[in-house]
Parts: sequence; C-alpha cells; structure tokens
Amino acid sequence: MKKSSNVVWHKPTISREDREQRNGHKSLVLWFTGLSASGKSTLAHAVEDRLHHMGCHTFVMDGDNVRHGLCSDLGFSLEDREENLRRVGEVAKLMIETGVMVLTAFISPLRRDRERVRSLFPHGDFLEIYCDADLSVCESRDPKGLYKRARAGEIPDFTGISSPYEAPINPELRCPTGTESVEANVDRVVAMLRARGVIAE
Ligand code: ADP
Repeated sequence: MKKSSNVVWHKPTISREDREQRNGHKSLVLWFTGLSASGKSTLAHAVEDRLHHMGCHTFVMDGDNVRHGLCSDLGFSLEDREENLRRVGEVAKLMIETGVMVLTAFISPLRRDRERVRSLFPHGDFLEIYCDADLSVCESRDPKGLYKRARAGEIPDFTGISSPYEAPINPELRCPTGTESVEANVDRVVAMLRARGVIAE
C-alpha cells in the first residue's frame, strides 16, 4: 500500500535506453515459473551462463536467496507468497532500468500473482517461461528432499502437494524441463531472445 504522497519521481540523466545501447542488448525480465524441482534455477543459471559468455549483462534472482534477506519476514501462505512476488517484481523493475537482463526463479504458483507482476512492466519487458515438468518427475528428482518431507506432513503449504500450482495458459515460452536436457532448453530461450530482437542475431 502506498503511504508516501510527497515524493516526486526524479528523472535520471542516463536513461535505460542509454544503458541498453552501451550494453548492446535490451533489458527485460525472464520470469521462470514451475513446480519445485522443475528446473527453474538450473535453467535460469544455465541461460545466464550462456548469455554472460555472449557478453550480456545478467542477474539471477532466486527464490531461496531473496528469502534470506529481502523477504525473510515472509512465509509460504498464499498471502505471503503474493507479497514475496510483489517485492521481487518491484526489484526486477528497478533492475531493468540498469540495463540488465533479470532472470527470476520463483515457483510463483498463482496466475493472478504472476499477472500482477506482469502488469508492472510495459508489454514485451516481462517474458514468462514455464518450466514444464510433471509432478512425478519433480518428486523423483527431489534434490533437497522437500517432497519427501512434504508427503510426510512436515512442510505445510507445499506447492503441488498441499498448495496449488496453476500452470501458465499462454506463457511466452514453454520449456519441457521434465523431458528435455538443460542445453536444449537454453537453446530455446536464446532462440526466443533472438527472435524478439532482445539480443542480436
Ligand atoms: P527449481 O528451481 O525449479 O526448484 P532446481 O533447478 O533447483 O529446480 O532443481 C532441479 C533439479 O533437477 C536439479 O537437481 C537438476 O540438476 C535436475 N535436473 C535433471 N534434469 C533436468 C533438466 N532437464 N532440466 C532442469 N533440471 C534438471
């Protein structure tokens, strides 16, 4: 909720466009969504690695990491998840003004919360990437043992088990992270960025 009314936006001398021009690519948000262990972090970091070596300016915001600081006061109720994503969206919005490509890896289970974040951005600045892996695949991976604990009733509000996940209906990109390799999905993301003119051909 907005509590400050006597604040005036200060227009920067160096614009986002100036920064993008110097960087040689556009800035934007790549929003990876999917079940826990669907491969959001793995894919986001692999895409960042590829883009970084192509000379792009990038940064990954990871769900677990922001929960150590910026959002350490929030839990996993649907209300707290909404506030978590609101903060992340606002940080991403600031970051793209710096000319950086921001990659976010958050389960972001609800359509309405993802749409709310999307609405912070001009058309084309927010690209939703659905890491599509079946629950059974995610559960068999279980890299942090979280599904096992959730099934045992030790973790409340666990997405896919005791809390909903609403798959995107019309994401900018669907990556079959349950059935195809990380490299194949990195290729998909990079191809999309080329096709949209975010990075040069
Ligand atoms: P999330 O961020 O969605 O919770 P992670 O990236 O942390 O998921 O974990 C996904 C796990 O699945 C990792 O241990 C990763 O090595 C493994 N994995 C196996 N195959 C794939 C694949 N094709 N794409 C992404 N991750 C994969």
